[in-house]
Amino acid sequence: MDDLSRFCCLNPDCPDHGKRGHGNLTVPARYGPNKTRVLRCSTCKARFSERKGTPLFGARLPAQTVVSVLAHVAEGIGTRKTARVLGVNKDTVTRLIRAAGQHAEQLHDELVAFSPDHQRSPVR
Ligand SMILES: [Zn+2]
Repeated sequence: MDDLSRFCCLNPDCPDHGKRGHGNLTVPARYGPNKTRVLRCSTCKARFSERKGTPLFGARLPAQTVVSVLAHVAEGIGTRKTARVLGVNKDTVTRLIRAAGQHAEQLHDELVAFSPDHQRSPVR
């Protein structure tokens, strides 16, 4: 049985959009060498990849390599050095960094409704 509790419908027009673990998602198919799951929303009938909105979406490298690239970058290892060590193109490293940054920003905006400092700044 697939654990889909961390996923939600990505269709902004769906009444169940963004509700994690709501029970509206099923796995009607898988695709690609990593057997990536296609998720289907029973409410709005939308279908999308489980990787949509993540740095893994559209990546042709194995998931393990993508994670390794981002782990190297997170440790402060430069783009060119990471590319050489892992045997991937430097442009691929750059693309993954951008995708990871956008994903992190979306996650931040979801988890942090507002900046506490913004509300607490002294009024002059
Ligand atoms: Zn939906």
